Amino acid sequence: MPVAKRVCGSCTACCKVPELITREYYKPPGVWCKHCNPGRGCSIYADRYTECQAFMCQWLLGFGSEEERPDRCHYMLDFTTTDPTGPEMPVLEGAERLETSLNIWEVSEGALENKGRRVMEITEEIAGQGISVLHIPLRGRAQLFQFVQGVLKSENVQPHYFGDIYAKEKIVSRKG
Ligand code: SF4
Ligand code: SF4
Repeated sequence: MPVAKRVCGSCTACCKVPELITREYYKPPGVWCKHCNPGRGCSIYADRYTECQAFMCQWLLGFGSEEERPDRCHYMLDFTTTDPTGPEMPVLEGAERLETSLNIWEVSEGALENKGRRVMEITEEIAGQGISVLHIPLRGRAQLFQFVQGVLKSENVQPHYFGDIYAKEKIVSRKG
């Protein structure tokens, strides 16, 4: 179990950017959770969902500088591992299908472009370790990066967690 190396403080970025799937509530990616007071915290903190209790972004786990707290740098990093019962990760032609991807989520519109150099530094470093990297903007399609024969390549993709149909099906099947 990973251990937090920092504290969230007034950051609430993860209450907006990823999707949230619980038995009681579904929130699509890129919109605020109904329980969030942005920049202040969770209105149901003591009773927040177990999914929220378990979530830690890479900054909280110690990645990057202090200034890269997601609400300050406006992007947030987390890893996804393929659910064996769910859809497979997208893959670039000629690249190996990988089970883990680093998601770089945009917290404020335009942040992925504005922080382009740093975002690409992270992308190259992580993709170089044999991990897929997804840039996920608030609007539009995501971009998948992988090394193919030693060259960093990318393609626009639609990650499965953008498909709320899949997520809603999952909730229904859990309820059933
Ligand atoms: S994005 Fe990271 S630092 Fe910000 S609230 Fe979530 S876990 Fe904490
Ligand atoms: S329930 Fe609370 S911790 Fe969980 S996403 Fe909503 S505001 Fe954030």
